[in-house]
Amino acid sequence: MDWSTVFLGMFLGFVLLPVIYNAGLYAAMRERFLVWHSARLIAMAVMALVGTEIFLGAWLADPALRNQIKLFALDIGIAMTGPFLVAYVEEGKLGPRLRRALLWSPALILAVTFIPVLAPDQAVPNAIRHLVFLGLIALFIAGSVQALRRGSRAARFQSAAWSVIIVVSLVAVGHELAFNAEWPLWHYAILVGLAIEVVVSAIGVADRFMGLRGERDEAIAREALFAQIAATDSLTGLPNRRGLHARLRDAEAPLPAAVAVVDLDHFKRINDSHGHAIGDRVLKAAASALLHDDMFAARVGGEEFALLLYGADPVADADAVRARIAEAAKVRIAEIGWPVSASIGVCPVGDRRGLEDAMRRADEALYLAKQGGRDRTVALPITGQGAPEGRKSPTKSARIAAHGLARAG
Ligand code: GH3
Ligand code: MG
Ligand code: MG
Repeated sequence: MDWSTVFLGMFLGFVLLPVIYNAGLYAAMRERFLVWHSARLIAMAVMALVGTEIFLGAWLADPALRNQIKLFALDIGIAMTGPFLVAYVEEGKLGPRLRRALLWSPALILAVTFIPVLAPDQAVPNAIRHLVFLGLIALFIAGSVQALRRGSRAARFQSAAWSVIIVVSLVAVGHELAFNAEWPLWHYAILVGLAIEVVVSAIGVADRFMGLRGERDEAIAREALFAQIAATDSLTGLPNRRGLHARLRDAEAPLPAAVAVVDLDHFKRINDSHGHAIGDRVLKAAASALLHDDMFAARVGGEEFALLLYGADPVADADAVRARIAEAAKVRIAEIGWPVSASIGVCPVGDRRGLEDAMRRADEALYLAKQGGRDRTVALPITGQGAPEGRKSPTKSARIAAHGLARAG
């Protein structure tokens, strides 16, 4: 084993390590530039493998064939660069014309590559190949410079990655022009340049990935925050109607034993005699009285709240809420001068599909509580024969059914 073998082995390791790393990143977030980057790396690895006879010499003895494959891999690698840049550079850092040119650049190079394969007598003159190469390199540089000038962080990594290759190529061309002979260090220098490109662009790709992931996480957090704000009542901090419906639809949430609707009694009178600000304080006090381990409370209307009751005796728990509302209002808003009361309608819940029906029945029960003189809790079974259909016209039998469960305070 000689130094060339070690060097080539190291180079292959360099090239293929980011491919594995990219695959891991891609599994976490499907960013296209990871695919383009890996494809370029694989093309580069193929070039390095067939470029010498060290590893594949036994199988690919024909140097002409090896050279053919090497050129092919080089063309493919260059063809990937345009789409890679477009996917890799941040949104808005490439103008539409350069973007389009970069996206279409593979067509040009692949035409030069495939014409001789499809039509062997149509050999593409080397001069045309070189022209296409130079044109594409100019295009990649133009893209990088534009992105750099627009403050692209990705372009900074990519330019750094390419800088050594560019310097090495310039030295090689200069040497060729000056001495009319190939620069003797060319093969090692370009390998070093390529190794640097691989390492720096891999770091750049990882950096871009982390940036995108940070942006994604921020967007997710922002969305969650907006969703929470949209589902929260700003006055009381309780979930609003939207929050209640989200909870009712949430299949993961435990099924409540019963649901209840709470409505403050003669609330308009508080507003009318003490002003809206005092009314608001009463609403906040009432909301605080609804916070309890055994219940989920939401503000679903002006002075109306919905409860999902999880305790063993939900009717008793709902009834206790009325006492807590009165107490909270008395302690916090002493200036009202009369006891604040609430009426509550309760309905037990059979199964998850019956939740909305139970909510409607609780509303009907609330109507009965108001009818019965307010300041009381009325419970209705989920399906009552001759039960009231709407709030406006409870039937006599429903009122009697309710009476048995009513607990006037
Ligand atoms: P009942 O016992 O029949 O429920 O009578 P009520 O006065 O409580 O009910 P009504 O529906 O007649 O009045 C509710 C009042 O609640 C009317 C409205 O101005 C007031 N209200 C609604 N939202 C708010 C709010 O955010 N803050 C305040 N201060 N008042 C509100
Ligand atoms: Mg009311
Ligand atoms: Mg009301």
